[in-house]
Amino acid sequence: MDNHEQQAQTISDLSLTPNHTDPSDKELQPIDRDILCANCEYNLRTQLPIHDCPECGHPIAESVKNRQLAYAPLDYIEKLRSATTVVAVAPLILFLINITMNANKDIPEESLFVIRKAVQFILYSFIVFAIFSLTKNSPFRPRIPKTILTLRITAPLSYILALVLAVLINKIKPGLIPVTLLTITLLSLALAFFTFLKFYANINLGLLPNKHRGSANIYAYLFLIILTILAFSNPTLMITNYLFDIALILTPERQQQNHGIYRAVLITGIFAFFILAITLMVFLFRFRSTLTKLHGVRSRLDLTTR
Ligand SMILES: [Zn+2]
Repeated sequence: MDNHEQQAQTISDLSLTPNHTDPSDKELQPIDRDILCANCEYNLRTQLPIHDCPECGHPIAESVKNRQLAYAPLDYIEKLRSATTVVAVAPLILFLINITMNANKDIPEESLFVIRKAVQFILYSFIVFAIFSLTKNSPFRPRIPKTILTLRITAPLSYILALVLAVLINKIKPGLIPVTLLTITLLSLALAFFTFLKFYANINLGLLPNKHRGSANIYAYLFLIILTILAFSNPTLMITNYLFDIALILTPERQQQNHGIYRAVLITGIFAFFILAITLMVFLFRFRSTLTKLHGVRSRLDLTTR
């Protein structure tokens, strides 16, 4: 070893921890998300994975690895995969049942409503159950407690609100109460979709590239935007009409015009939602096969270390 090399070695020894002599490029990148130290919960964002925790000296690589799915127990990966399957398949079944029921005119209207609500209730319970199992506490679950808590509240809340709305809609006259209820339901649903996708966006596979992150993030914001627009379209119409009314400029033509804009927004929004829902389903199935692949990699790893 000549002097030059020796000098380089000393410099790298100063900047790297001794147990990481050959860091890959990835390890030289500062951490770009919230990862808490596994020992003291210090936020390691902007730190280099090759260093030790500035608070307690616990190796950062350990904390990072902790959050990597590739190092999770096999049954945890399997649980994640089955929950993903349920969330992807249940809406599809619901959609198909709705179509067949609409096509079948022989079934009386009232029993149709009851059957549909019962099926919806069962399938939605499956989805909520899957979401709870998906976000179950584990050292391998993404460390995003607020997002997970919001998801665990808004997912069941959206359905309860939708149920209340479905029961009330025929019993009370149109007005402020159903509009408010619908707005809250859609906002809750917007948050549920957003946090659900943020959960996926924060899953760190480890060993396999995190290709899912980009699309999960995009879907999260698209669902949030579309559902928020849908949520506010109805109150906006009401408020606009009200303001035009007190300004004494609400002519029947203008009222019709406002309603036309509202309908256009509504139809575009619902259409966009359905397109997004279909692409989300494709995303979930693809993520499911990624989990299968990871499961395979993980099983082989177990064999070699045994
Ligand atoms: Zn620490």
